Amino acid sequence: MLNKKVSDLLNEQINKELYSAYLYLDMNNYFDKRGLAGFANWYMIQAMEERDHAMLIYKYMQNNDCPIVLNAIAKPDKKFKKDMDVLKAGLEHEEYVTASIHTIYDAASKVKDFRTMQFLDWFVKEQGEEETNARDMISKMELFGSDPRSLYMLNQELAARTYSAPSLVLD
Ligand code: MG
Repeated sequence: MLNKKVSDLLNEQINKELYSAYLYLDMNNYFDKRGLAGFANWYMIQAMEERDHAMLIYKYMQNNDCPIVLNAIAKPDKKFKKDMDVLKAGLEHEEYVTASIHTIYDAASKVKDFRTMQFLDWFVKEQGEEETNARDMISKMELFGSDPRSLYMLNQELAARTYSAPSLVLD
């Protein structure tokens, strides 16, 4: 059994990760409607990864006998008027999730919960990668987004992204 605060924060994180999946589905849908299937693919894979993050925390909590409460997942309410709105919302959201992971890490550290800290190490690294990916998307769009031919090429590039299961595995 983990410290209550740590356990409560992990429980909230399950919800945040599932909300992330919801948000990325909304972004997938935006690009699907735009006819940019490569971008849509990229965000679909993001959504799948977020679901995986939620499942990892869920499993970790189960393994440690934590009470799990599955709360309602909020409706994604961001309005996207143009492609860049989606990309910027993605980066902003990842920065928010990073801060949230760091908050749990900090709580675990305060009660010397080394197991949770080690578990969260994977997430700390993952968030660094997520933010880099989100920034790369913005840079590419800034460079190529205004030219239809370049946008087509970028869309092709993003279509090649494939899903792979998380490198962290919990038994
Ligand atoms: Mg995540």
